[in-house]
Amino acid sequence: MAVVESVRGPVDLGRLGQTLMHEHVFVLSTEHMQNYGSTWWDEEARVADAIAKLNALYAKGIHTIVDPTVWGLGRYIPRIQRIAAATPVNIIVATGLYVYEELPQQYAYRGPGLLIDMPDPMVTDFSGDITDGIADTGVKAAFLKCCMETAEPTPGVERIARAIARTHLQTGAPITVHTSGPHQGGRTAVRIFTEEGVDLSKVVIGHAGDSNDLDYLTELADSGVLLGMDRFGLDLFNPGAERIKTIAALASRGYAPSMVLAHDANCFIDYFGAAHDMARAAAPNWHYEHISDDVLPALLAAGVTQAQLDTMMIENPVRYFTPASGGAA
Ligand SMILES: [Zn+2]
Repeated sequence: MAVVESVRGPVDLGRLGQTLMHEHVFVLSTEHMQNYGSTWWDEEARVADAIAKLNALYAKGIHTIVDPTVWGLGRYIPRIQRIAAATPVNIIVATGLYVYEELPQQYAYRGPGLLIDMPDPMVTDFSGDITDGIADTGVKAAFLKCCMETAEPTPGVERIARAIARTHLQTGAPITVHTSGPHQGGRTAVRIFTEEGVDLSKVVIGHAGDSNDLDYLTELADSGVLLGMDRFGLDLFNPGAERIKTIAALASRGYAPSMVLAHDANCFIDYFGAAHDMARAAAPNWHYEHISDDVLPALLAAGVTQAQLDTMMIENPVRYFTPASGGAA
């Protein structure tokens, strides 16, 4: 049986079980936290809280979360290792870059044809995270992440997307791309990845579920990608009832094999500073258990079959992480 790397090491794909394909443990800016976080960041309390939330999720039958927290969202694997050691939930981590516009200076001057003319250091760094492990943790990234927030990417965002594609070709690792539903960034991602020769069946168009435009969604799915119906609880981007209607419509047209589910939730996010509890109150369903408690029953009531739910929650994640024949990942 093929395996996928998790924070605790390789896991048989047959043991992933019900999988949420886009959840963060923490979203943090390290500099923000280190300089301004004394009123709202308590390392021990946050780690204990994350363990409790993941254990509660496990009790609901979710055995795996796929965490696309990369540079730009505060990836720090030693903290995640402490949590993974204290919960049975498999946590699958990523490499890549989360930026909407600006390429980090650390990659701006190094690369083919640049001041320091050398192979693209992004490909080198991302590949190393997948094949050798992240920093000195021994934890290997199992997938790649980048962003396509606008339909017309900046040169920096396009360079990142192409570096992600080239790392995918070198390693076989699948890709999740953050996109904007209103700007339909998924279409641009599909174009760039197609130009680079990416296996589109190994791509999740993240946040596709913020759109209810069935023409856009079926166009993406027909290209072979998976649609990330992955922001349940974030009603401000698309109300839950609309998300459910869209998934039911797609499932009735035979697109269950093209969808994966998640909340894009977290145990803590620092976007709200000391007001984080107010943000929780404003989006009360934005937590790990909303799909198990509310969304799956609502999808069944909307005509989605249990077999289609299993396809979205179990089979599609396994297919995404199954190495292509001969693939290195
Ligand atoms: Zn996310």
